[in-house]
Amino acid sequence: MLNFLITAAGTREHIDPVRFISNASTGKMAYCLGRAAIRAGHKVTLITAPTHLRPPAEANIIKVETSKQMLEAVKAHFDKCDCLIMAAAVSDYTPVRQSKTKIKKSRAYLTIKLKPTRDIVKWAGKNKKHQIVVGFALEDKALRKNAERKLKEKNLDMIIANSLSAIAADKTSVQIKTSDSNWLRLPYAAKPTISKKIIRVIEEITIT
Ligand code: C5P
Repeated sequence: MLNFLITAAGTREHIDPVRFISNASTGKMAYCLGRAAIRAGHKVTLITAPTHLRPPAEANIIKVETSKQMLEAVKAHFDKCDCLIMAAAVSDYTPVRQSKTKIKKSRAYLTIKLKPTRDIVKWAGKNKKHQIVVGFALEDKALRKNAERKLKEKNLDMIIANSLSAIAADKTSVQIKTSDSNWLRLPYAAKPTISKKIIRVIEEITIT
């Protein structure tokens, strides 16, 4: 039995009390991974950004909104986990300033200055002890090359690469690479099927 820590969905970076920057991620892949891990007999903590999906019944659910909150939640649960899967679409940028009041409409252009967010999975790669750290790479070109760079730069144990068509889709095809194995391509299938296979690959890594 392994303790899985899985992050899900797109974070929200607030501009003012009612507006935010986010992305099209629904969290479907992460929720499927959570279900697959539970079905395989593991324990799952799911740190989730907002989504309309129904959470896996037996998972410990931690709701967050921003990338900063997600980082804090990952930090708080990282020690106890055996495997972190960063499936969340974490916003790469966040507004430098957040208006406390709703920004009024005017005829002038509105510029929102953004600053980079902290890279959560990179933090995990740097601070891991016994944990397996898994990242995702969503790329529109040079999929393998970019994913391999992320695997190295973020000190991950495994990277799951997929194309932009995976966002919010029911089916996907992914390619998996671990730090010491060649690429493994999982054929196009429903996300629950893909998830089951990914959990099996992670189980094999932790056993060896
Ligand atoms: O560099 P890129 O954002 O493409 O890397 C994707 C991987 O990094 C995903 O696993 C995502 O969850 C993670 N990530 C993160 N913190 C960020 C941005 C991305 O953990 N601020």
